[in-house]
Amino acid sequence: MTDFLFAPPPVPGLPVVGSAQRFPVRTIYAFTGTYGPNRPEPSVFTKSTQSLAANGATVPMPPRTALFEPEIELVVAIGAPARDIANARGARDAVFGYAVGLDLTRRDLQRAARNAGQPWDMAKTFEGASPIGALHRAGDVGHLERGTITLDVNGGRAQTGDLEEMSWSPLNLVALLSKYVTLQPGDLIFTGTPSGEVQLRPGDSLLGQIEGLTDLRVAIGAALA
Ligand code: MN
Repeated sequence: MTDFLFAPPPVPGLPVVGSAQRFPVRTIYAFTGTYGPNRPEPSVFTKSTQSLAANGATVPMPPRTALFEPEIELVVAIGAPARDIANARGARDAVFGYAVGLDLTRRDLQRAARNAGQPWDMAKTFEGASPIGALHRAGDVGHLERGTITLDVNGGRAQTGDLEEMSWSPLNLVALLSKYVTLQPGDLIFTGTPSGEVQLRPGDSLLGQIEGLTDLRVAIGAALA
């Protein structure tokens, strides 16, 4: 028996390395402007949980874009409620683990929205816009503060950096976000991307890698009919 008019959509989830149980996803946050020296406080936006894509997925070419681009990012998964965290050390207790993610972006829509002072949600949320690989528990891999992060497209290096190049470390981003919202178990945080731009087209193969984490592989498919 149910009070719903139709079947509620399934809870989106991520696999957890070493576990048969999945991590249920609640809200996806995403920071921008975190890499490079002396960056000001970064801004944050959200991506729909319905935009999640699994490791190995084929993401359909999204409509209404002439400049589709990937952003390779470390994703932090929240495992405990937290608000108003004072600092990076204090953020550790809120973190469940880490994964490799891609913040897929309709760059032309993002730039047009930004230039017009309008919201850029449609640049960031569409079918398959948020591929994320398996989560590794912080207890297994530690709290990631350095290590190479790379994206290859069709075997060529498209983006490269190191987590230690972040002005705002992953744990500092957790603390910052907790000053705006109460973080809850199931929340995911994209932590920004290193430099490097490449245009994606149907047929492309993407390989995202962060030292110590499971590789993330995604293909770009044809546009939806
Ligand atoms: Mn991003």
